[in-house]
Amino acid sequence: MEVTPVGADKFAGTSIENCYQCGKCTAGCPLADQMDVTPNQLFRLVQLGEVEKAARCGAIWLCVSCFTCTGRCPQSVECVEIIDALREYAAEHDCAPPDLQRIILFQKAFLDNIRRNGRINELELIRDFKTKGFLQDLSLPLLMKDALLAPKLMQRGKFHLTSEKAKDRELVGRIFARCTGTHAEGATS
Ligand code: SF4
Ligand code: SF4
Repeated sequence: MEVTPVGADKFAGTSIENCYQCGKCTAGCPLADQMDVTPNQLFRLVQLGEVEKAARCGAIWLCVSCFTCTGRCPQSVECVEIIDALREYAAEHDCAPPDLQRIILFQKAFLDNIRRNGRINELELIRDFKTKGFLQDLSLPLLMKDALLAPKLMQRGKFHLTSEKAKDRELVGRIFARCTGTHAEGATS
């Protein structure tokens, strides 16, 4: 995603200058009390052109994209778009807090998995995420974390060892290409 230059009126395609700091987004956010800065403070940083500072906040990785903030905003600011753009910025500029690097790793593994298969292959996702995570920090406990949950999840039909690929993966490739502004790759592997 292309991020609008620092200090511009628009950011991530939304009119950030329209935010008048009423705080309604924060008042409705289910995670605001867990965040290092609240959503409206995050948007104020962006308004002030402090995009990198905003992208370093842990709050953007706690957001679960529930869209409550967007729905409550009286100024029609696309709050979630802003947070998404900040995540992209943080990933591209490698400025996420060290303790949150695994979240980025998971997001990348998740998207790569969808790009390849057209839908999630859970086993492949876990394999890729755990392998890359281990290579990143050589943490054995994290490598093994949640392993014992697998049988219970399988019993409840929440975890599957196999998964069929989507039939029209070229369409998936085109969706990714449109979102990322790149050329579609043939989804044939
Ligand atoms: S609800 Fe909208 S206008 Fe109010 S602080 Fe949040 S983003 Fe700004
Ligand atoms: S989308 Fe994110 S920031 Fe907005 S209310 Fe939901 S959790 Fe909070």
